[in-house]
Amino acid sequence: MTRNGPILRVEGLETRFFTEEGQVNAVHGVDMEIDDGEVFGVVGESGSGKSVTALSLLGLLESPGRVTGGEIWYRSAELADSVAEETPTAVDGDYVNLLGLPDRVRRTLRGTHFSMIFQDPMSSFNPSLTVGEQIAEAVEAQQRARSNPRSVASRTQGYGLGQYLMSFVSSSREYVSEESRDRAVELLEMVGIPDPVLRAEEYPHEYSGGMLQRAMVAQALAGEPNVLIADEPTTALDVTIQAQVLDLLDEIQAETGMTILIITHNLGVVARMCDRVGVMYAGEIVERGALADVFDSPVHPYTQGLLGSVPDLGGSSGRLQPIAGNVPSLLDHEMPDRCYFADRCPKAMEACLQKPPELPVDGAAGHTAKCYLAEEPFDESTALPDGYFEDGSTDAADSADASGAAEVASDGGESE
Ligand code: SF4
Repeated sequence: MTRNGPILRVEGLETRFFTEEGQVNAVHGVDMEIDDGEVFGVVGESGSGKSVTALSLLGLLESPGRVTGGEIWYRSAELADSVAEETPTAVDGDYVNLLGLPDRVRRTLRGTHFSMIFQDPMSSFNPSLTVGEQIAEAVEAQQRARSNPRSVASRTQGYGLGQYLMSFVSSSREYVSEESRDRAVELLEMVGIPDPVLRAEEYPHEYSGGMLQRAMVAQALAGEPNVLIADEPTTALDVTIQAQVLDLLDEIQAETGMTILIITHNLGVVARMCDRVGVMYAGEIVERGALADVFDSPVHPYTQGLLGSVPDLGGSSGRLQPIAGNVPSLLDHEMPDRCYFADRCPKAMEACLQKPPELPVDGAAGHTAKCYLAEEPFDESTALPDGYFEDGSTDAADSADASGAAEVASDGGESE
């Protein structure tokens, strides 16, 4: 890992969904810094807001979702230079606030500066085109974007309606250069696809799940992005293929020095891959720090609960300790005016009911937690009595759904 200072600085990110039931505060006040060349993990159970955070970073949210606040500062002197004249308020030295850029400029950054690996490769490839064609088109699109980064018209927009209509005008073979096709084969080889020349001519259904995930990694690398976001990159794979895909990401990171943001519910993936980690709960980062600090000395009771629910193959045969209850409603009018974890927290105190705790700007060695216990040790005599909350959700034995943390730990969940 190299440490060249943050390549991405997210400050007070807020993303809301405007639904008929009301405003859903899916992400509210997320702060994080990701260093150039590091692997940063965001971990949390389904509904915690981790995937929404990733989509917000890339500007890929769909209606009724919208980023409503915060700033996303991305370090790129080249980009800062090219947009300074048009959007001076979005530039600060070598940093560019992505949220201050017009959509047409942001679109050109996808693939070239940022790329994303999605969790379900089968639904991300077009079944009617060969894998090689699709990767070659990604290469072609990124080359055009690089040659004219201000023009969205210089690139395609993937394999949607535009590509369908374009197929009537020019065949893919004419539209995509031979160089791009050769590069697609190189990329397939790079991610370990055997017989890449032959495999490039095959359709997605002819690939196994693991191979298709590798092909998606190849496609994500087509534009040589600076930041790769991997959203649950191994969820759909069996354990041995998971390990191969993680090895592949590891090798690519070591070779290219690429920054990787991994979004996952799987603590094993975080432990295997990440330099630092942010734990997400109810739309917030509740604890963050170096992997060893957070995993060896967790401060927030939610992080402690997650780690306590991990099966220990070499340890005692005691039962897993799931976290009782569910993530609270994030509907604006239903959000509690107290710590959002309070009614699931075995260490909740009177102070936790007064107002939500803040996440310190920086703690010792960058290890911080959004919990009053980050400032003082837990005193059992101050804990609220069992059953304090009406639904009794602090009592794990009585909980109707105590599976959230076990799901996070055991790789059985889905991205929200
Ligand atoms: Fe538990 Fe209080 Fe910390 Fe919230 S602030 S996690 S309720 S101890």
